Amino acid sequence: MVTLRSDADVRLIRHSGDDGMVVAAAKVSVDPDEALQQAIEDNASNPSGIIRYLMRHRHGSPFEHGSMTFYVETPIFSAREHMRHRAGWSYNETSGRYRKLEPVFWVPGRDRNIIPKEPFKPARPEFLPISDEILYETSQYHYRMVYKEAWERYEKLMDEGISKEAARAVLPLGIYTSYWATCNPRSLMHFLGLRTHEKDATFTSYPQAEIEDVARKMEDIFAKMWPITYEMFNQNGRVSP
Ligand SMILES: Cc1cc2nc3c(=O)[nH]c(=O)nc-3n(C[C@H](O)[C@H](O)[C@H](O)COP(=O)(O)OP(=O)(O)OC[C@H]3O[C@@H](n4cnc5c(N)ncnc54)[C@H](O)[C@@H]3O)c2cc1C
Repeated sequence: MVTLRSDADVRLIRHSGDDGMVVAAAKVSVDPDEALQQAIEDNASNPSGIIRYLMRHRHGSPFEHGSMTFYVETPIFSAREHMRHRAGWSYNETSGRYRKLEPVFWVPGRDRNIIPKEPFKPARPEFLPISDEILYETSQYHYRMVYKEAWERYEKLMDEGISKEAARAVLPLGIYTSYWATCNPRSLMHFLGLRTHEKDATFTSYPQAEIEDVARKMEDIFAKMWPITYEMFNQNGRVSP
């Protein structure tokens, strides 16, 4: 039996730091004693002004003194895109060598635009909804059939004594994986700038919807915990400092 889903699960496991910590870190260069006091007492003054200045002038390192650890469930093709983000990111992923994977696979939801809009531009791809119900059902059928067949062969290989690490090769990219991802506010903002689509951003990106789903869920969490940094990031055209 295979399970089909279309969404990503993103949960915050733990975090440290806040807007005040950004301000305190920035003060280290001119007044280290006051910076320390502010960080300990959590009473940074004028955070908006300082954070706006840091963001505009690309003084990025004060935004690295914080940490967010997320739990993520997303299809392997989306996780691969996530793990291209190297700087300021750490990952630990569930193993297909040491444990049997879960039979959970991605299918495009009914609201997912998947018909390429012509003329198709690879650097600025646009997609339309499936208007034809029969085409939608047929496409779902193809996904289901391949996933079911692949899962059965995966189990059969292991039943016949083949190792998990070799048997997993028959599984498609649409299978879900899960991992922890830890980042700091600066590396998260860089990720958000590339993996969300905002037409008014300084550099408009065209990410695949599934990695954008992951990014948007992280963005919602970040916006609550670093509200001033988040506001200034948006004012700065969503360019990480
Ligand atoms: C819409 C979109 C389409 C994409 N399409 C493709 C594709 O077709 N094929 C493909 O292979 N990738 C593709 N990518 C991935 C892309 O090339 C990057 O690997 C990914 O976005 C991570 O960006 P990054 O390297 O800036 O991030 P990070 O790895 O987090 O790095 C952050 C920053 O650190 C610096 N840095 C990190 N490592 C180095 C280094 N080794 N040398 C110098 N500076 C470094 C750079 O300034 C970099 O911007 C795509 C990304 C997007 C958003």
